[in-house]
Amino acid sequence: MTDALATGRDGAVTNWAGNITFSARELHRPASQDALRSLVAGSRQVRVLGSGHSFNRIADVDSDAAGTALVSLSALEPSVDVDTAARTVRVSGGVRYAELARHVASFGLALPNMASLPHISVAGSVATGTHGSGNGNRSLAEIVRAVELVAADGETRVLSRGDDGFDGAVVSLGALGVVSALTLDLEPDYSVSQHVFGELHLKRLDFDAVTSAAYSVSLFTDWRGPRFNQVWLKQRGDAPVDFPWAAPVSEPRHPVPGMPAANCTEQLGVPGSWHERLPHFRAEFTPSSGAELQSEYLLPREHALAALHALAALREEVAPVLQVCEVRTVAADAQWLSPAHGRDTVAFHFTWVPEAAAVLPVIELVEGRLARFAARPHWGKVFAADPADLGDRYPHAAEFTELAQRLDPQGKFRNAFVRSFMAPFLSPDR
Ligand SMILES: Cc1cc2nc3c(=O)[nH]c(=O)nc-3n(C[C@H](O)[C@H](O)[C@H](O)COP(=O)(O)OP(=O)(O)OC[C@H]3O[C@@H](n4cnc5c(N)ncnc54)[C@H](O)[C@@H]3O)c2cc1C
Repeated sequence: MTDALATGRDGAVTNWAGNITFSARELHRPASQDALRSLVAGSRQVRVLGSGHSFNRIADVDSDAAGTALVSLSALEPSVDVDTAARTVRVSGGVRYAELARHVASFGLALPNMASLPHISVAGSVATGTHGSGNGNRSLAEIVRAVELVAADGETRVLSRGDDGFDGAVVSLGALGVVSALTLDLEPDYSVSQHVFGELHLKRLDFDAVTSAAYSVSLFTDWRGPRFNQVWLKQRGDAPVDFPWAAPVSEPRHPVPGMPAANCTEQLGVPGSWHERLPHFRAEFTPSSGAELQSEYLLPREHALAALHALAALREEVAPVLQVCEVRTVAADAQWLSPAHGRDTVAFHFTWVPEAAAVLPVIELVEGRLARFAARPHWGKVFAADPADLGDRYPHAAEFTELAQRLDPQGKFRNAFVRSFMAPFLSPDR
């Protein structure tokens, strides 16, 4: 797997998609914990870049001024320590899901769910509330039981489940410190088979029945018609698949039209280990299309059908700049800044063409239509709203702000994105 953090021709550091050139000219890669600590202690502003798969400036520093450090943990010795008796794993801050999952599976253990790709770092994913699909599956952050942070003074602090503020410490937007390790809950190994079905018309959609037809369900549409082109079912164990609403496809598929199915995890109902089926994309290949922008909006599941019809009414604007739209479900969780916080959720994801000028007006249109459903944008994807306007969609935004001020009084780990989100909750003297 290649390092997603690209360095442009002029030495600039960019994200995976290439749509963001970070403000820092240099990416610091400390090679030891001591080097990381002294870098943190000696800097005025610190932001960590995970695997760089976010599509906005959430990971960025404010400028290239002296004392500002954009940090990657990729040069630190990775560690993945499984405790089979406790059924937990402690994973260091730079590790990606692909490495984590292989290691965990070799102990006969498993994660309950994964995102569409295993290329992303664990710390960066949970920091943005990343999720997979499944009516009963919560965001990836929900299995975190402890967070180890290198704080502003270079010292390590540990927050564990049950501690004051813990529910704000996992989906942290990178604002509380450098996450040097996470401890996750595991469960016994299981197998998954993946079944792909063809066209399903919006008129025939019984949303709750369709999304409960398997452990994890994804519906894909190009919005060129009021229908889904593909429905992916990931079924756990030996449970049968009963899907009377569409016909099974006879060949493996890629969700993005024109992309090779060989990039995807095995389909056609062949059972395999959980980590070789839950992600859509194989670790050795480029995920998704590779040339794209992404947005995603998460809203209460009871509005799924109304929101789908609202989006269908925008088909003529959306389809020309869309590669694929994926609809998933996520169970409610307790993390303060999780976009699935406190409500069983439906998530509308858009893989756009990589042309920001053409896509941004459509994003605004989509956001406008979904606003009445109190949609929360995915923290790591492109959205039009000002982060300052998102706080009222998160009942614990003020508590998160207090937590960040308590753990990092000087604001070393905050950037423009985070400050904007926190601004409405700050007292005037902060
Ligand atoms: C092809 C593709 C498919 C995707 N599929 C999904 C999907 O299925 N579901 C979904 O929900 N999202 C998905 N995403 C979005 C992705 O999961 C998020 O953007 C996620 O945050 C990426 O993790 P990362 O390590 O690249 O984080 P980055 O983008 O590098 O960073 C994200 C945030 O985490 C912080 N951070 C990272 N590491 C640390 C650390 N060690 N300590 C402190 N802060 C840290 C950064 O400062 C930043 O604020 C997808 C993205 C791509 C490109």
